[in-house]
Amino acid sequence: MSATSAILFSAAAMTVIVGVRYLLASGGFALATRLRHPGHYAGLDRQIRREIGWSLASAAIYGVPAGIVAWGWQARGWTLIYDRWDAWPIWYAPVSVLLYLAALDTWFYWTHRWMHRPAVFRRVHAVHHASRPPTAWAAMAFHPLEAATLAVAIPLLVFLIPIHVAALAVVLSVMTVMGVTNHMGWEVFPRFMWRGAIGAWLITASHHQRHHDAYGCNFGLFFRFWDRMCGTDAGVGDFRAHRGRGGRGRAGGGEPGRAA
Ligand SMILES: [Zn+2]
Ligand SMILES: [Zn+2]
Repeated sequence: MSATSAILFSAAAMTVIVGVRYLLASGGFALATRLRHPGHYAGLDRQIRREIGWSLASAAIYGVPAGIVAWGWQARGWTLIYDRWDAWPIWYAPVSVLLYLAALDTWFYWTHRWMHRPAVFRRVHAVHHASRPPTAWAAMAFHPLEAATLAVAIPLLVFLIPIHVAALAVVLSVMTVMGVTNHMGWEVFPRFMWRGAIGAWLITASHHQRHHDAYGCNFGLFFRFWDRMCGTDAGVGDFRAHRGRGGRGRAGGGEPGRAA
């Protein structure tokens, strides 16, 4: 196979993998929502179809740079991805996961804030915010330009920060699960993750839902660090804005939260 067709094949394979991963993750959590909070997404069928359409388009946009880099890793020895556990000290594996999550969070926070500038918001980020309230299917519902800013992040990071291939799988899993659950409309995680000392620094649905309600706050992805540093953290929401439509609005993690 020529290099060009191998790259095309790799990009197509990555697109399928990202698309199927999205359908399984969002589908799984949408099913959990249906079981746990029947009627939570009542009346949102049209919005959900839209969310799925944008998300599958994003899968192709994510798949291209990922496919090129995956090909280069295998065929040309590109990237700092390693697969031998003795290549780096074992303690480095969890550290590398945290480094990746922190780097992704920083990239997301600042590009996300930029996308809330009125002109960019209108043309690009409004696609994501058309989900009111978002559902588990909104995880990758982005305008292609926004998807492109997200698509390049990991393909660039693997050239900068060494990571074991299993640790990279952990990073991708965390991204997938948080992307879906942050939009799900109820809290699936234990209370300590969104309340108290640890919750004060982590982002889950209670925090991101408030971003979808209020727009000008809570821009982070995984951690509240940048929001707190920059004065954009408005605390966690309580899903109350969406009460009264079907069962929507109940905080699944327990009692409704108060604005922190
Ligand atoms: Zn969102
Ligand atoms: Zn936003």
